[in-house]
Amino acid sequence: MHVEQLYKKNTHSWMVMGRDAERNKDIIDTNHYLIQHNGRGLLLDPGGIENFSSVATEFSKHFELANVEAIFVSHQDPNVLSSLPLWMQANPDLIVYMPKSWVNYVTHIGIKLENIRAVPDEGGTLTLAGYDIELVPAHYMHSPANLSVYDPGAKILFSGDIGAALLPEAYDLFVSDFDDHTQYMEAFHRRWMASNTAKMRWIAEVRKRDVEMICPQYGAIFKGEDVARFLSWLENLDVGSAWSNVR
Ligand code: FE
Repeated sequence: MHVEQLYKKNTHSWMVMGRDAERNKDIIDTNHYLIQHNGRGLLLDPGGIENFSSVATEFSKHFELANVEAIFVSHQDPNVLSSLPLWMQANPDLIVYMPKSWVNYVTHIGIKLENIRAVPDEGGTLTLAGYDIELVPAHYMHSPANLSVYDPGAKILFSGDIGAALLPEAYDLFVSDFDDHTQYMEAFHRRWMASNTAKMRWIAEVRKRDVEMICPQYGAIFKGEDVARFLSWLENLDVGSAWSNVR
């Protein structure tokens, strides 16, 4: 398991954990991000049931988990949120931010409405210990109700499944050769991103912001010039029409 600090300034930081060589190989190797501000924590896309113990154990080496006050989930998939009931067992006061349209589905896995903060379709702001984080609409990319997270101080965008890649074992946490990396993203984006209209809308939202890193829920992180490279690549990719032999 690799843990890296992506950003730190004063009491504000981002940490990523990924590349779990010990995981059950039947599951996707997901990335998990922890934002800290003034000693309080926000976990992004906590992952599946299968990941829970490794994510909780690893992050607890770096941060007091009792100080994680909220979890953000970008969409409804099991690899994104099936660990939620376990996180809630560990801390019944946790607040869960999620797209409004998924609330009545996620209650099926035992998450109580009182813990949920439903984010409207137009997105909004999430406040962590007085620090404002933007929730940006990313609908149909791929889920019909889907959000990205933008931290204006750190200039980091958490993109959920957008920019995700199915990588060989032991691949670096960061993209180092963009052109080579596209082979691991292309089939997934063609198959799972639902529409070119939605794609262009999301790209326009991202381009309005100053982004130094795009962090997907699995795959590798884009930083520096690879951010613009990724947006251009996605812009030129036809999505939402291929389904044959594509995962
Ligand atoms: Fe997904």
